[in-house]
Amino acid sequence: MGIKMNKVRCNGQELKINEYDVNKKYGDLKCYYCDANVSFVNSHERDLGERKIIVQKYFRLKGGEEHRQGCKYTVDGAILNIHADCADDELMSVQDNKYVVRLMIVSQGEDKKESKNLSDESGHGKRRHNYIPRGKKTAYLSTMNQIMKLRALVECNSDLEDKINLQYYDWKDNPYLVPWKNFYFDSENENDFSRLRRYLTNKKVYHPICVVGYIKSISEYQTGRFCIKYETVSDEENKRVAIAVYFENNQIYEQFRDKSDCKIITYANFRFYQEKEWTAPDERKFIYYNITGNVYDIRQMLLLDDETTV
Ligand SMILES: [Zn+2]
Repeated sequence: MGIKMNKVRCNGQELKINEYDVNKKYGDLKCYYCDANVSFVNSHERDLGERKIIVQKYFRLKGGEEHRQGCKYTVDGAILNIHADCADDELMSVQDNKYVVRLMIVSQGEDKKESKNLSDESGHGKRRHNYIPRGKKTAYLSTMNQIMKLRALVECNSDLEDKINLQYYDWKDNPYLVPWKNFYFDSENENDFSRLRRYLTNKKVYHPICVVGYIKSISEYQTGRFCIKYETVSDEENKRVAIAVYFENNQIYEQFRDKSDCKIITYANFRFYQEKEWTAPDERKFIYYNITGNVYDIRQMLLLDDETTV
């Protein structure tokens, strides 16, 4: 458990994860920053349904080992850094020895427009509290971007569950906690996309979520309008979950246009859009559950690769 590491020390030398040779014998692997003992976790294949992906290899702490206090790879240290960078209690605060991170809706337009006229908006959950405060969009999304990255770097939700609470406001403007399992969905995990499909189809979900997957395609489907489609993921029986992210931001398009097959994470308000039947050439029928989200700022998305680190 803990942060997945992409480099270690071996006999005093730096050893990067992509240099690690499974056929070679190595001496003790040590944390790059402290002396904790570390082991290698090999990559493995996972079949998403329409294609197979390789789940990336990494280094992890050996059982019973801990990083020295202050080591860059401690989860506590990483959270401390995010909190120090943020330095805004409205966005991220400390309560009862736990950090509280607010989940906030990203909307189109300038900061100054966002906190205006929200009382006109219909729908539960669209409370003033759930929108990024005036002038704080960059600060908020930079913090959220670091939280997304940290979650992608740790092995599971339990690494963060007892340290970071995710908070959202209900329609009566009362804060409540969103469990990590309802916030973070990764196509590399066996059941995450089935859970995502059920979560979004069974009830109205107002809070933003994070979806991790592989880019299937990126297109400009109309002038100035773009779409990134994730690789679909098999659900139970003949169901498949298809995620699409829409945006009109040229900067995002430029960043991701040549990143087909790469792994990304997106923070957005995802919605169940429709289900569609499709018959394969061999007559097999599939039901596609289309889930969509809109992205307005480049900080809502992040590329995840071997280089991603705390
Ligand atoms: Zn360490």
